[in-house]
Amino acid sequence: MRQERQDLIRSLFDEYIEMYAARDDRLTARFSENFSGYTGGGDFLVKDRAEWAKITRQDFSQVTSRIRIEMLDLAMQDLSADVVVATAFFHIHLPIPDSILSRETARLVLIFRLEGADWKIVHSGISIPYGLVRDGEVYPIKGLRARNLELESLVVERTLALEEANMKLQALSNTDGLTGIANRRKFDNLFAQEWNRAQRTGTPLALVMLDVDLFKHYNDHYGHVAGDSCLQALAGALVKAGRRAGELVARYGGEEFVVLLPDTNGHDALEAARNMQHEVWSLALPHTETVPGIVTFSLGVASLVPSSQHSPEYLIQQADLALYRAKEAGRNCVQLATDAPD
Ligand code: GH3
Ligand code: MG
Ligand code: MG
Repeated sequence: MRQERQDLIRSLFDEYIEMYAARDDRLTARFSENFSGYTGGGDFLVKDRAEWAKITRQDFSQVTSRIRIEMLDLAMQDLSADVVVATAFFHIHLPIPDSILSRETARLVLIFRLEGADWKIVHSGISIPYGLVRDGEVYPIKGLRARNLELESLVVERTLALEEANMKLQALSNTDGLTGIANRRKFDNLFAQEWNRAQRTGTPLALVMLDVDLFKHYNDHYGHVAGDSCLQALAGALVKAGRRAGELVARYGGEEFVVLLPDTNGHDALEAARNMQHEVWSLALPHTETVPGIVTFSLGVASLVPSSQHSPEYLIQQADLALYRAKEAGRNCVQLATDAPD
């Protein structure tokens, strides 16, 4: 293509794009009487210049300010002595509040034909990868908004499903598989949390440690499967006995359980432990080796007002020592840690 002609078509093309960006209706004056064009939706051919002008006006009325066009590539081709095709790829930034729609890649084909002294546009084919065209909408904005909303709600839905799965996972990682009550991990976390809180507020924190009496014999006599069922029943009884706010019943390991009692002094913790003992007695699970002939616990109780003087482990040790003393005292009884304040 001759250089002057190429420069001329290029400048006509640029002017056209500028008028388009400025939403200048006068751009329709550039159209040939024989104009035809494909709209942004791309699926119908308009063969009437006046109709095209109307669509263009509608098109412009849907955007509120200047359209920004970022040219990526422009190619020109001679079809004959008086017909030139300009094909452009560009990003079109529509001034609409929609993150997906506001930036699209478009392809525009303009066919220029020399009519008398002027080059007129005989064909315009813009293709924006919009799949939908709704009634009278040249930019299928409503349709795409709906599609965007669908996408967004899908994202929200997926996020919720993920959160739910995470919560289930977290619940699982905090739950003892056999008994369904809190596990050691959950206890450790909550204990640390409650220790700090009690230290801040200057309130007492209590622990009850429970260990099944002669459980080895139980397994030996009734079998491990029965032993497992027994542990499940015991966990249920301990949960049932717990009535205090913020209380946590956890399986500490094996046939040992622990109950965390926030804001509870030694006296009240002792009472809570006795409630647990009664609840377990009322299960009356047969056990040939214990003195009363039923499954029993030994219980150790400790309570203190946390301070920087002691570590949290100190309270556990105190409860453990009390539990040891309960075993020493003949099992099936409750002991309160000796140096626990009341
Ligand atoms: P003590 O009164 O001194 O506590 O006697 P004990 O027999 O309960 O004490 P020991 O620690 O010797 O035995 C605990 C038993 O608990 C041994 C173990 O087989 C049993 N055990 C621990 N975890 C489980 C469990 O998940 N299922 C069953 N069936 N048994 C368990
Ligand atoms: Mg034990
Ligand atoms: Mg035991």
